[in-house]
Amino acid sequence: MTFPASLPIPPEVLKIAKKLEDAGFETWCVGGAIRDNLLGLENRDFDLTTAAPPPEVQRLFKRTVPVGIAHGTVAVLDATNQPHEVTTFRKDIETDGRHAVVEFGVSLMDDLARRDFTINAIAYHPIRHEWRDPFQGEQDLAKKLIRSVGDPNWRFQEDYLRILRGLRFSARFDFRIHSRTLEAAKANAQGLAQLSAERVRDEWFKGLLSAARPSKLVALWRDVGATRIWLPEMRDAGSGMRDALKAIDKLPRDPVLITAFLAKDPASLLIRLKCSTRDIERGRAIGQWRDHYPDAKDLPAVRRWLSKVGEHVGDLLTIEGGPKLRATVAAIMQRQEPLQLKDLAIKGDELIKAGVRPGPDVGETLQRLLDEVLEDPARNTREYLLSRV
Ligand code: ATP
Ligand code: MG
Repeated sequence: MTFPASLPIPPEVLKIAKKLEDAGFETWCVGGAIRDNLLGLENRDFDLTTAAPPPEVQRLFKRTVPVGIAHGTVAVLDATNQPHEVTTFRKDIETDGRHAVVEFGVSLMDDLARRDFTINAIAYHPIRHEWRDPFQGEQDLAKKLIRSVGDPNWRFQEDYLRILRGLRFSARFDFRIHSRTLEAAKANAQGLAQLSAERVRDEWFKGLLSAARPSKLVALWRDVGATRIWLPEMRDAGSGMRDALKAIDKLPRDPVLITAFLAKDPASLLIRLKCSTRDIERGRAIGQWRDHYPDAKDLPAVRRWLSKVGEHVGDLLTIEGGPKLRATVAAIMQRQEPLQLKDLAIKGDELIKAGVRPGPDVGETLQRLLDEVLEDPARNTREYLLSRV
């Protein structure tokens, strides 16, 4: 593979680069968009890296957002309010595995040297159409190889998230991880424990969404030792797990669903990853109900099940439940059969008027009536229900 003569840089990005260059600041396109375009994949999200310090960028452009000013990143808004990231050439001078203190006023070479993998450390000059590839990223793209820039042990110890990023790129592009990079990833996996749950979750979810096959990402996390630290509820590598792995490639690309499917205790795993309450409840329902599917031929049993699983029926039918159960559920929904207390033809206040003592008795009576209605929806009339009070 060789570099193309030029890349299709969007006019808005080119305009920003020209303005910076005209003001005397060297400016290059870098990052994932360069990599993806060289792979023939569409990506118009070109990041710019420049010699201009952040205050200069803010002075040159009328509309900017200081998205990560401490790290030198300013978003420049174009005429249609689209943000374009402009980052000042920087070098990490202090790192602790999670955060970095950066220094500006360095060269493009220093900036490329602090990037994680060779395939992410290629720069293209959008005006002069020149390339800079000091770490042979282009060769690694051709060889389908993920390789750290510099010594992989140091680079992972500077920021352990890079281990997970490497696994994500490997699963996404179906690239091999270079032997020394892979060894270092394994040797430093314990450091992953220092990362914040939010960064790990974002990386895991992004990985599941972008992987060519999610099962490959899961296998990589396990091999490297990331699963042991962050996803210990994952089912073991026994034969059950092998079937589960094959199954996830056929599930919808829904990270919460896939994670819950793979976990022995989904709620506990999603809590560790600091997921939203809603996502944790989805996981809890999957864990609670996945071994208790009703017999599709037993209509009252299907109704009782629907009444209990509520809004989680979609997830449960997605992960299992054959075509017969799906058809039965669809028919029940179609007929809009009563499944919840709110669907009953009688309300609590009417029970009180009919003589039920206010308090817990009301709820218990309603539940008993619902049980009868779940047996036979034709019973859901005021007269019948009052006759049963
Ligand atoms: P994508 O956006 O498709 O996930 P990307 O490579 O663009 O992939 P970003 O997170 O957008 O990833 O980062 C842009 C660039 O910044 C990367 O290509 C890489 O050069 C650099 N980079 C990002 N995160 C790190 C990190 N933790 N350590 C070193 N360099 C990084
Ligand atoms: Mg990106």
